[in-house]
Amino acid sequence: MQFQIRILGSSSALPTSTRMPTAQVVLYNETPFLIDCAEGTQMQLRKCSVPFGKLQNIFISHLHGDHIYGLFGLLSSFNLLGRKQELNIYAPPKLKEIYETVLNLNNDTLKYKVNFHPLMGEGKELIFENKNIEVYSFPLKHSKPVFGFLFTEKPKQKNIRKDVIERYELTIAEIIKIKAGEDLIDEFGEIIQNSELTTKPGEIRSYAFCTDTLPLKDLNKYFTKVNLLYHEATFATEDEELSKETFHSTAKQAAEIAKLTESKKLLIGHFSSRYKVIDKLLGEAVEVFPDTIAADDGMLIDL
Ligand SMILES: [Zn+2]
Repeated sequence: MQFQIRILGSSSALPTSTRMPTAQVVLYNETPFLIDCAEGTQMQLRKCSVPFGKLQNIFISHLHGDHIYGLFGLLSSFNLLGRKQELNIYAPPKLKEIYETVLNLNNDTLKYKVNFHPLMGEGKELIFENKNIEVYSFPLKHSKPVFGFLFTEKPKQKNIRKDVIERYELTIAEIIKIKAGEDLIDEFGEIIQNSELTTKPGEIRSYAFCTDTLPLKDLNKYFTKVNLLYHEATFATEDEELSKETFHSTAKQAAEIAKLTESKKLLIGHFSSRYKVIDKLLGEAVEVFPDTIAADDGMLIDL
């Protein structure tokens, strides 16, 4: 099953000639989920061929402009494209007020329904689920209320061996029972153990998104062992004081969080535009957590 992360923006507050501010798409089984929606997100979605029409769920971490100023344009484009389908937005509650103010001042109405799901939880909360995945929010620490998101697959069913289906001429009903863990009684009344009929279900994959936050020493209470952790790394160690003052993290601190949460791979981003190249930030992270990569706009990562 497809589980990919597409980076639409890897800069912090200021866009540069090569990096837009924060937005990402989680692609799961042909379904896109948008995380944050900075200025320029629409163009990045187009460039990366993410189908607008399939977008039904948008997750907003916090209400700083570099994470939401692309949202109003995107909602307006949906209107122009004749969208009828409902849209779900998971965000801190004040976003509803901001969005209604923009629409009212401009005498605009949308032809489709927007469902706001306010994020207010003080702990880890399940905010979305479908047949295959669950999305949780959890609080981070920044100069505004901010939430991280955890995308995780649901436990998978066992796979039934193809040769078993032919050998025992299994019916659909029997296949369903075996996949759910039952044994099989054959025509001679003998019990065939479930372990002989099935192969192990695939690994449960997960992705954690943590942006605009101080490094949190207890983040491992919300998740551990994710396949990929995205953690902001706005600053280099030499600017650690500034990082603290602005409620951000350094690349080294992001790597320490990857270690703390026993993440399998770390993706750093949200780079300050003061760094013309980010080799230094990547180097500082790799020293602590070797399996680190640096986000680039347009990058696609398979989980
Ligand atoms: Zn922020």
